[in-house]
Amino acid sequence: MKILPLSSGFGYGLRVPDLPIVTLKAGKERKVRNFYPWIQRGEIARVEGEDPPGCLAELRSSEGEFLALGTLNTGGRFQFRILTRERQEVGQAFFAERIGDAGKLRERLQGETDAWRLIYSEADRLPGLIVDRYGPHLVVQVRSAGMERLRDAWAPALAEVSGVESAYERSEMAGREEEGLPPSSGQIFGSTPDYVQIHENDLQFRVPLTSGLKTGFYLDQRATRAAFGASVRPGDRVLDCFCYSGAFSLYAARAGAHVTGVDISEPALELARENAMLNGLEAGFVLGNAFDYLESSAQGPYDWIILDPPAIAKTAGKRDSLKWAIWKLANRALPHLAPGGTLIVCNCSYQFNLQETVEVCRLAASDRSVRLTLERVTFQDLDHPAPIHFPEALYLKCAWLRRLPD
Ligand code: SAH
Repeated sequence: MKILPLSSGFGYGLRVPDLPIVTLKAGKERKVRNFYPWIQRGEIARVEGEDPPGCLAELRSSEGEFLALGTLNTGGRFQFRILTRERQEVGQAFFAERIGDAGKLRERLQGETDAWRLIYSEADRLPGLIVDRYGPHLVVQVRSAGMERLRDAWAPALAEVSGVESAYERSEMAGREEEGLPPSSGQIFGSTPDYVQIHENDLQFRVPLTSGLKTGFYLDQRATRAAFGASVRPGDRVLDCFCYSGAFSLYAARAGAHVTGVDISEPALELARENAMLNGLEAGFVLGNAFDYLESSAQGPYDWIILDPPAIAKTAGKRDSLKWAIWKLANRALPHLAPGGTLIVCNCSYQFNLQETVEVCRLAASDRSVRLTLERVTFQDLDHPAPIHFPEALYLKCAWLRRLPD
């Protein structure tokens, strides 16, 4: 333990534990001052002190000046993740304040839905922590060794600030391996039911909290779904590829369209059918591989085709497979697109940006001699904030491509 001087911000005489000190290479302090939250291995000059994976640490410039507090994992891809640029205690009160700020950012969603991403990791200055709220229940993902170690501080803060009944952990994602963490799931506090019913605009959805994909529902597509639902006209024909629990499909059915949803997972389709019943809507849900379905079974023409494949490229090395997948999907979808119809191509990989997505669609359309116009672009909804200082936060973009006369 050491006693910090008055200027430290802790107040005179307050004891805090000695933290390991991470000193940056010259010039690297700039990115910290510009709000970028990650420090990579090559940017660190030295680490002093004991540093178990995910420990709290102090970040200093090459001149020895204090820059930030954060978590250090020298075995991880991102070695240092910034929590605060102030010298302050990183305990329950710290997390309570951060969670409160995150809650305020989502206030605009109240009324529209009772399900939203409450904490989106770095974008909410809580690196490695994802928390989705489904009515009175939270589903949590812990993606960094740092957040794993700080669990005793953030978990009670979550209970205190969010006022929910329960929190359940679904940390089963591949990214944890890079942090040296095994998959983990289970109750954090309270008691979480396997399913909960939420509403999004005027639709109801059953969400599998303990077993679904991601945390149970694709909250990030809310804005795109709403824009889509508002654009579909009665009688439109809609093909929803990669439909999961039927969210896009049901927005279309609500608007009076004839809808087919396709997914490779039977449990997802069961959920989609239940969701259709729950809303008193009709849609056909078909089990199939979307790539094959588009090639051999699709019964166009469709006024709308949605392509919302799962994240194929989580790393830069997978970029080519994603590019190829989008090309193939668009190329196979276009012959089924009615004149004046719209193809919505969603891409949830940060690694592959909007320009590249549109370019791949241009190549696919040229191959089919189809002319497309980029009519609209939609992004992840506001509960997945995208601070412009941290480009990696903006991962989901959906290109709305309308078929023009040849
Ligand atoms: N559009 C959905 C989310 C899609 S998530 C929504 O708004 O809720 C991606 C979905 O693709 C998952 O349900 C997964 O089961 C499905 N999937 C993965 N590979 C597939 C394939 N080759 N063909 C069809 N569906 C596939």
